[in-house]
Amino acid sequence: MKTSYLTDLTCSDCGRSFSIHEIHTFCPDCQSTLISNYNLNAVRQQVDRDEIHARPKGMWRWHEMLPVQDPENIVSLGEGDTPLLRIPRVGNELGLSNLFVKDESSNPTGSFKARGLCAAVSRAKELGVKKVIIPTAGNAGGAMAAYAARAGLQALIYMPKDTPNANIQESRIAGAEVILVEGLISDAAGMAGVKAREEGWFDVSTFKEPYRAEGKKIMGYELAEAFNWTLPDVILYPTGGGTGLVGMWKAFAEMESLGWLADVKRPRMVSVQAEGCAPIPKAFHSGASFCDFWLGAQTVASGLRVPKSFADRIILANIRESNGTAVAVSDEALINAQKKLAASEGIFAAPEGAACLAALEELVKQNWVKPDERIVIFNTGSGLKYLDAVAQ
Ligand SMILES: *Cc1c(COP(=O)(O)O)cnc(C)c1O
Ligand SMILES: [Zn+2]
Repeated sequence: MKTSYLTDLTCSDCGRSFSIHEIHTFCPDCQSTLISNYNLNAVRQQVDRDEIHARPKGMWRWHEMLPVQDPENIVSLGEGDTPLLRIPRVGNELGLSNLFVKDESSNPTGSFKARGLCAAVSRAKELGVKKVIIPTAGNAGGAMAAYAARAGLQALIYMPKDTPNANIQESRIAGAEVILVEGLISDAAGMAGVKAREEGWFDVSTFKEPYRAEGKKIMGYELAEAFNWTLPDVILYPTGGGTGLVGMWKAFAEMESLGWLADVKRPRMVSVQAEGCAPIPKAFHSGASFCDFWLGAQTVASGLRVPKSFADRIILANIRESNGTAVAVSDEALINAQKKLAASEGIFAAPEGAACLAALEELVKQNWVKPDERIVIFNTGSGLKYLDAVAQ
């Protein structure tokens, strides 16, 4: 059986095609993200979704729709197949009868960044890369450090100096070099970019590398499977760079083409950000097709301190195509939501995940969601990683 049905990469802007046998970052002509394409006809004929269901647990069950060509190159720490939990107490309080949390906190390194970095590091190793570099708001650095250690690659990480201590420590103990930067992830990205060009490091920044989104898209496959090959009505996703939102939207399109969905109704995608850094809600509600750089970004939800995503156009297009929306919540609201999730349901969510509950409270007030709709909140990480975090 074939490991992967990946065929080529194409630029999300100009459509130029790139070989999967070479290492690529983004399109050199238009500085845009590259999209992974698969031979969907062949998968449709040769791969059975129920057979995948019966495989041992984990993200790599879906290897035909992931990019690694030789299974020997898969660098795994047991990522994926996170629980989909009903949260009936919180649901009751909001008058919602079908409310769920996709709880990503059980991933290696305590956040869903593991999925993306697992795919990216595995592919980098497959293509002969020896050293990887990343600018990060925190969890991506920790995940990259762990997978790089597992793969035997050298790792260099640029983080804002106010990144949660857990992210600094987990990266260093895995053997990565961590450089603390004055400023935001955008400043870190500038420095990492220069270093990558000057010294030949492979840059795995969000959407400047093609395969992180492929790892994260598997969250969409897992959701469809958990809902018996249908999709929920609404998904709330805490958005920094937007890999999960864009990845899942791609997964839904793929599954539709594969004939795997019993009902092709897609979810309305809700992008959640913090009031102190809300470029997506601002662009969405002003009708813009791209984001302005958000000045003075600040929020305790460090994963959401992203002033402008490299893939802002794709995120906004996906939200609109889904008839979704974008919501910004205050730090006070997301901290209250974090307490509620822990005290009512036993889920100690990352502040980013808790922001989704705060956003849902808003959408209930606006009657944007119906009481019986199936709603999924993404808790993207563990609250335990933020014990020392204070609003910046
Ligand atoms: C990175 C991160 C996010 C944002 O994810 P993107 O895919 O970059 O939008 C949300 N929550 C947590 C905990 C994160 O680490
Ligand atoms: Zn291009």
